[in-house]
Amino acid sequence: MIDEEIAKKARAVFLGVAIGDALGATTEFMTTHEIKAKYKIHKKMRGGGWLGVKPGQVTDDTEMSLAIAQAILTEEKWDLRAIADNFLAWMRNKPIDIGATVRKGIRNYRLNGDLEVPINHWDAGNGALMRMAPVAIFTLGDDQLLTRYSLEQAHLTHNHPLSDAACICIGKMVHAAILGADRFQLHAMVRELIAEHKTFRFNNYKGLASGYVVDTMQTVLHYFFSTASFEECLIGVVNQGGDADTTGAIAGMLCGAFYGLESLPKQWLSKLDKQVKIEIETSSDTLIRLSPWIAKGSHIHELSGDLWDYHDQGYVVAITTNGKVSNTGRNVMARGTAKQAAEHFPTLPETLGALISTSGNHVYDLGNRLVSFPVEHSPWEVPDLHLILQSCRELRTLADNNDWQKIIVPRPGCGGGGLAWKEVKPLLEQHFDERFRVINAVKQ
Ligand SMILES: [Mg+2]
Repeated sequence: MIDEEIAKKARAVFLGVAIGDALGATTEFMTTHEIKAKYKIHKKMRGGGWLGVKPGQVTDDTEMSLAIAQAILTEEKWDLRAIADNFLAWMRNKPIDIGATVRKGIRNYRLNGDLEVPINHWDAGNGALMRMAPVAIFTLGDDQLLTRYSLEQAHLTHNHPLSDAACICIGKMVHAAILGADRFQLHAMVRELIAEHKTFRFNNYKGLASGYVVDTMQTVLHYFFSTASFEECLIGVVNQGGDADTTGAIAGMLCGAFYGLESLPKQWLSKLDKQVKIEIETSSDTLIRLSPWIAKGSHIHELSGDLWDYHDQGYVVAITTNGKVSNTGRNVMARGTAKQAAEHFPTLPETLGALISTSGNHVYDLGNRLVSFPVEHSPWEVPDLHLILQSCRELRTLADNNDWQKIIVPRPGCGGGGLAWKEVKPLLEQHFDERFRVINAVKQ
C-alpha cells in the first residue's frame, strides 16, 4: 500500500472520531425509546442534545484527541508532560464537557505534577479509550510503541486494567485496519481481548451503551461487526443513546480505519466544524508522517495470536527452521513453530531434510502454504543474524515469484533462540513489504 493511501486512512480515523462525537452529542444520555420518539432514527448532523451543541460541533472526545495530537506535533515526539500540559490548558479553557475522572486526573497533575493516577478499581470509564486516535496514528508500524503510549496517555486520567486492555485492543485494531486487515482478522483480535477479559463478550448484546468501558466496547463491537458501512455502523451506535458521543467517536475511529476516507458520508463531513476539520486533517497528516511505518519506512506489521489461525485464513506461513538433517534424512524440527508444523504435517521433516541435503539450508516452498525459514545451522547453535537476513531475502524472492499476498513469519530467532526483537527487526525491514506480517506470541 502506498503512503498516500495510508495517510488517507489516518485522516479517516481522526475525522471518524469527530463525526461520531458530533453525531452522538445529539443523543447522549437519551434512551433508545426517547430517541425513537423524537427522531425516529437519528441520522443527521443536527446538534442539540443535553449540551445544546451546534450541528457539527464536537465535544471533549475530539478536543482531548486534538490536545494529544498538538503535543506530539509541537514536540515532534512523544512527550507525556506536554500532553498533560495541553489537557490542563484545555480544562482551564472551560470545555463544553468534561468527564469526572478526566477532571480528577488533570487536577492530580496540576496539584502534584503526577503523570499517572493511582489504580482505581472503581473507575473503568471510556475516557482514555476515546482519545486513542492520535496514539494509533502516531505509532503505526510499531505495536510495542502503541502499547506503551496508550497506557501512558490513559494513565494520566484512567488507571484500570479493563480501560488499559480496551485502549490497546482498539489501537491494534485501528493499526491493522489502516494496513488493510479484513473483518476476520479484526475479529480474531477481539477474541484475544475476550480470552483475557471475558467481560468484553459482545454476542448477545444487551444494548447497554454507558460510559463504562465494557459497555462502550460491546456497543462499538456489536455495531461494527453487524453492519457493512461507516454510515450504517455509526447510525446504529448513536441511536443506542447512552454515552453516544463517545461510543460514536470510538466507532468512527475504527470504521474510519476500516472503510477509509471515501466512506465518510459527505452530508456529515460537510457539517463538521470547519476549524476542527482542518485541524484534524493537518494533524493526522503530520502524525502519520512521524509514525514508524512512514518515517522509518518500516513495513513490519506485527500481529499477535496463534500462527495457525492465520494459516487457516490463507496466509503463507514461514516456519523457523535449522539446517540439521538426522541420520534418517529428516530435518530436526524439535522446537517452536517447526515442531508445531511437524505435528500438523508429519511428512514435513522428511521433505525439508531431503531439500537441505541436496541444496543446503534455505527458504523452500514446502507445499500446504508452508515455507522453511532458516534461522540457525543446527538446533544446538544460537541463531545466526546473517542467515536470518539471507532467509528474509530468499522469502521475499519466493513471494514475488509466486505472487503471494499474505505471508506471516514468527519473530525469527526470538523465541527459544534468544535474540532480541530489536536486533532482528531491522533485518526484516530490509526485505519485507506490506504483504508480510510478523507474529509475536507463538502458543506452544
Ligand atoms: Mg463527549
